[in-house]
Amino acid sequence: MKYYDAHIHFFYQCSLNELKGKFGFLEKIGFASINILVISEFPEEINTYLKMIPGAYHPYVTRKALENQKDPFPVIQLFHQPETIPFLDARFIENNIEEKIKMSRQKGYQGVKLLFVPEEDSTLRIDGMEKTFGRPCKQSEKITSLIIEHASTQDMPILIHVDLRKYGDFVGEILGSYPKTNFNIPHFGFSRKAISSLLDRHSNCYTDTASLESFMEKDPVSYKSFIQQYQDRILFGSDAVIGQPERVQSTLDFISRFIENREIFHKLVNKNYKNYISKSFSKTSPLP
Ligand SMILES: [Zn+2]
Repeated sequence: MKYYDAHIHFFYQCSLNELKGKFGFLEKIGFASINILVISEFPEEINTYLKMIPGAYHPYVTRKALENQKDPFPVIQLFHQPETIPFLDARFIENNIEEKIKMSRQKGYQGVKLLFVPEEDSTLRIDGMEKTFGRPCKQSEKITSLIIEHASTQDMPILIHVDLRKYGDFVGEILGSYPKTNFNIPHFGFSRKAISSLLDRHSNCYTDTASLESFMEKDPVSYKSFIQQYQDRILFGSDAVIGQPERVQSTLDFISRFIENREIFHKLVNKNYKNYISKSFSKTSPLP
């Protein structure tokens, strides 16, 4: 079986040769394609940068790891397997939005990633947009809407990290406004109840399993029933960094053990991904 990972952050600081080994590792364990999330525009000041990164990921943030994301194309073109689908991580983009999204598409980005955290999230240890950019929640909604509007025009699917317990209404409106654009709201939107209502109402809404292993372990029965119910809309996402492909493997192993039904497992790691990503692909090349 071939596997697809919808959620890998493009942080690495090893040599190109070592990175080649990491891609080789993913190919060997069966990955046909991975989405990499690339923060190509970011503030110079590293402390400002850290304000928009969950505390758990701060150890990956080094000057070299940031520089490696500015232009990922010469690097990813060196490796053919697994196929790499770059998502522009637009969390720091505030201005010239139309032009930047258009240019990113021309460069080869095929999707957009957003971290919609307008206020501080103390659980994930993210300072949020208010503290980082000094802008109120409404302004962050406006900027996020604009990025989504232009990504949608460019046929780019959108991966948007958002806590639906707080911002579910805003996201519901967006999903309704862009029915032809597919959205992945990772981590089950931090609320199975809230994401269920979006999944029920919007066929362009997907979610992924990123960083949910410990929650699934604590409450397997209700997570299994959620997965059973929404088996056509859940994607496999490891939330790993590309520099640590072992985490992709351990997450895949976990999901494989957790979901006993092989047909549902196949949907999560393979079939659903193809439906989710198909929009930007229909105009370029078919998936492997
Ligand atoms: Zn993530």
